[in-house]
Amino acid sequence: MKRYPNYINGEWVDSPQALVNLNPSDTRDQIGEFAEATPEQVTLAVQAALKAAPEWAQSTPQERFNVLDAAGSEILARKEELGRLLSREEGKTLAEGMGEVARAGQIFKFFAGEALRLAGEHLDSVRPGVEVDIRREPLGVVALITPWNFPIAIPAWKIAPALAFGNAVVFKPAEQAPASAWMLAEILSRCGLPAGAFNMVMGRGSRVGQTLVEQKGISGISFTGSFQIGRRIARMCAERLVRVQLEMGGKNPLVVLDDAPLEQAVEIAVNGAFFSAGERCTASSRIIVTRGIYQRFKQALIERMKKLRVGDALDPETDIGPVIDEAQMNKVLHYIELGRQEGATLAAGGKRLELDKPGYYLEPTLFTETHNGMRINREEIFGPVATLIPVEDYQEALNVANDTEYGLSAGICTAFLEAAHHFRRHVRAGLAMVNLPTAGVDYHVPFGGTKGSSFGTREQGRYAVEFYTTVKTCYTRW
Ligand code: NAP
Repeated sequence: MKRYPNYINGEWVDSPQALVNLNPSDTRDQIGEFAEATPEQVTLAVQAALKAAPEWAQSTPQERFNVLDAAGSEILARKEELGRLLSREEGKTLAEGMGEVARAGQIFKFFAGEALRLAGEHLDSVRPGVEVDIRREPLGVVALITPWNFPIAIPAWKIAPALAFGNAVVFKPAEQAPASAWMLAEILSRCGLPAGAFNMVMGRGSRVGQTLVEQKGISGISFTGSFQIGRRIARMCAERLVRVQLEMGGKNPLVVLDDAPLEQAVEIAVNGAFFSAGERCTASSRIIVTRGIYQRFKQALIERMKKLRVGDALDPETDIGPVIDEAQMNKVLHYIELGRQEGATLAAGGKRLELDKPGYYLEPTLFTETHNGMRINREEIFGPVATLIPVEDYQEALNVANDTEYGLSAGICTAFLEAAHHFRRHVRAGLAMVNLPTAGVDYHVPFGGTKGSSFGTREQGRYAVEFYTTVKTCYTRW
């Protein structure tokens, strides 16, 4: 089996231990062994980044553009090959895998341009003969920690702006899907970065991730993952006054009003709730439906769900691939059992599927006649499970949508312009979708949430500069 080393100070470095990466569609297929960085190697990576940071901070916008543009071009040119690998290790369908790779490439291209456009401000001082320049400067060394569910796009949307704005990087990908991240690191290793400006240390979060966030000299940590780990990292950062950015879970509502076009609303719900096996932070997990359409919508949704094909992620016929691993499977099955115990009606799915190959296949699952107090409507399940919550009218739908600890994405299906406008203004979420799935976003605009979903400044688009730079105000007397 091929062994994949860490990338530290411009060199590929093996470790005594390694973790085997399995294909969740067929667990007999071992993708590779990925070295687990030792604590000493994590320290070496941070030291290398600290050494490289001043040089990279002084690089010209053209040099940064060249690196990011080259990475973006190669990722786009290898979309099919990398998309296949991504689907093989993560379990999202081939179309989704290739789409994610393309997005990673576009993100690098976007931030190549942003490197050229990084601007400050120039003002006259209130004092005569004095001018003020406001400059944006890199933070220094940033640690980037990512989850398994977008194994190339999330690394891309952290690494690209970090480098574009002159920071040195130590990156820790998720242990369940390190292959896509490794390929990204391999591409970056050939794009002209000085040694140490980009480093990757792999392995378990409880070891490698924890050791990384404890390192001295790191100026910022950008984390995407669960609320529990995010909060723990934020506590440590507060203690040491390290800048932190957290993107965490969701319990995203999709409101369906009486006047919504039925077929379109069903497609939006199916896409948002079940595609990528529901393993998206923006997945629609609570579908809030007004009484006038509730029965019709429920029947149409159940009928549509029967047509969804669960199978090997690499099979072009597959609509829904496997969940990532046994632990995630057990977590989702636990919530399905909990839903039953809480008195929700299991209207579709609910079972693990045994197919012709050993994998983590789960039926798309729908609970109906639920209410927002149930745990299945309050806690993130992160699998192909959605609920229907009946409500009387729009106002109750909005109240239920907002009654959650999370606030990442929220959608509404309606032909009623006034409701759509009202919802956009009053829903408490970082993303508001009108007649679109709660999942599925552009790469050139900000992404993030409110409440328990996000903490700190926004990622992506032009707003990414807020996290990856610090502001210096320069006064000059002439
Ligand atoms: P997770 O368990 O919190 O892990 C996220 C990352 O943190 C992984 O690289 C993990 O390493 C690492 N980690 C674990 N313990 C750590 C520690 N003590 N110190 C430092 N790092 C540590 O989350 P996940 O299960 O991978 O991802 C699913 C979650 O991510 C869901 O809640 C989902 O909603 C959220 N998510 C949010 C967004 C968003 O943008 N809002 C996007 C995607 C996913 P290991 O992989 O080795 O455990």
